[in-house]
Amino acid sequence: MKAADFSYHEATNIQDAINIKAKDEEAVILAGGQSLLPALNMRLSSPSCLIDISKISGLDDIKIDGDYLFIGALATHSHVMKNELVLKRMPCLIDILKMVAHPAIRNKGTHGGSIAYGDPAAELPALAVATNAEIIVSGQNGDRSIHAKDFYLGLFETAINQDEIVIGIKYPLLKQEQAILFEEVCRRHGDYAMAGLIANVNKIGNKVNDLSLVYFATGDKPDSADKTAKLYLENGYDYSNLKNSLNSEIDFAGDLNSSSEMKLHLATILIKKVLNKLEA
Ligand SMILES: Cc1cc2nc3c(=O)[nH]c(=O)nc-3n(C[C@H](O)[C@H](O)[C@H](O)COP(=O)(O)OP(=O)(O)OC[C@H]3O[C@@H](n4cnc5c(N)ncnc54)[C@H](O)[C@@H]3O)c2cc1C
Repeated sequence: MKAADFSYHEATNIQDAINIKAKDEEAVILAGGQSLLPALNMRLSSPSCLIDISKISGLDDIKIDGDYLFIGALATHSHVMKNELVLKRMPCLIDILKMVAHPAIRNKGTHGGSIAYGDPAAELPALAVATNAEIIVSGQNGDRSIHAKDFYLGLFETAINQDEIVIGIKYPLLKQEQAILFEEVCRRHGDYAMAGLIANVNKIGNKVNDLSLVYFATGDKPDSADKTAKLYLENGYDYSNLKNSLNSEIDFAGDLNSSSEMKLHLATILIKKVLNKLEA
C-alpha cells in the first residue's frame, strides 16, 4: 500500500515549523520518520502536510542544564547511545536504547519523536515518567515545560497543542543513592516488548527505601503502579499479592505480542527481575 497524497515542507527553523503547524490542523511533524512513514504507508494516518524538522540545526544538543540532562528532540537513538555525558550521567539510557528496535532504525529514529509519538509500548515515554522528566515544547506563545506524568493522556494522545513541537527532554540528574533499573520481555531482541518495567529506586546500601514503578506495553500509556510499589516496600516480593495489586491499578490491554493475562503475569515477575539487579 502507498501513502495518501500529502504536501511536504522542509522547515528552516523552529518558528517556521510552528507557523505551518499552527495554520494547518492536519499537518504533522516529520522527524526520523521511523514510526510516521510506516503509519502513512499503511494508511493509518493521512495528514495534509509533512513538516520536516530533521534539517533544523541545534535541535540535537545533549548537555547539562542546571540539575538536568537535556536531550534535544532531534538527537537520534544512536547519537544518544554514543554520548559521553549520557554514559557518565545516565548510563541506564544506553541499556534501554539497546532494546529499541535495530541499528538502522536507531540511526534515524529520534529521542523527541519517540517521546512525542507516545507509543504505549515504547521505552522512552515510560522512562520519562519514571524519572520525573520534563518535556519542553515550543509554540506560538513560546516555550513551556510539561511534566512527563501529565504529558501522556491516552493511546497516542499527548498534551502537545496543535501549534507546538517537542524541542527537548530534561531528565533530573541522578542522585548518588538513586538507581534507574530497567527490564523488558520481548519475543526477539529489537521487537516491541510484551511488557516492560522501569523502576526508580532510592536505596541505602542494597536496601530499597523508596520506589516507583512505571510499566510500558501494558496499557494505553505509561502505567505507574504506586500502590504496588508501596506494597512491595511494606511486604517484600510476594507474587500473588503484587499480582492482585497490579490487576487492581492497571488496565492491562492485550496486543499482538501478548494477552492481558500474560502482561499481568510478566508485570508481576518483572518487579523481581528488576530489583534483583540491585544485588548484581
Ligand atoms: C521495526 C521497528 C521497530 C521499532 N521498535 C521500537 C522499540 O522496540 N521501542 C521503541 O520505543 N520504538 C521502536 N520503534 C520506533 C522508533 O523508536 C522511532 O524512532 C520512534 O518511535 C519515533 O521517532 P522518529 O524520529 O522516527 O519519529 P517520526 O516517525 O518522524 O514521528 C513519529 C510521530 O511523532 C511526531 N513527532 C516526531 N517528532 C516530533 C517533535 N519533535 N515534536 C512533535 N511531534 C513530533 C510525528 O508527527 C509523528 O506523529 C520501532 C520502529 C520500527 C520501524
